[in-house]
Amino acid sequence: MTRRKEMRITESRFIRVRCPKCEKEQIIFGKATSKTKCLKCGKILVEPTGGKAKIRCRVLEVLN
Ligand SMILES: [Zn+2]
Repeated sequence: MTRRKEMRITESRFIRVRCPKCEKEQIIFGKATSKTKCLKCGKILVEPTGGKAKIRCRVLEVLN
């Protein structure tokens, strides 16, 4: 269905992710230019690395 390879996730899309620490789901921007933290536990979910966002959590779904 909406399962995609990780390479595609760094595009300008919103993605639904699950925090690996507390398992809270949240929707984040896949091309974040700043660190995105989990709203619940504060774990860093997305980290910008040289223009591309590095996803450090499980991606559940890629939204359009
Ligand atoms: Zn969390």
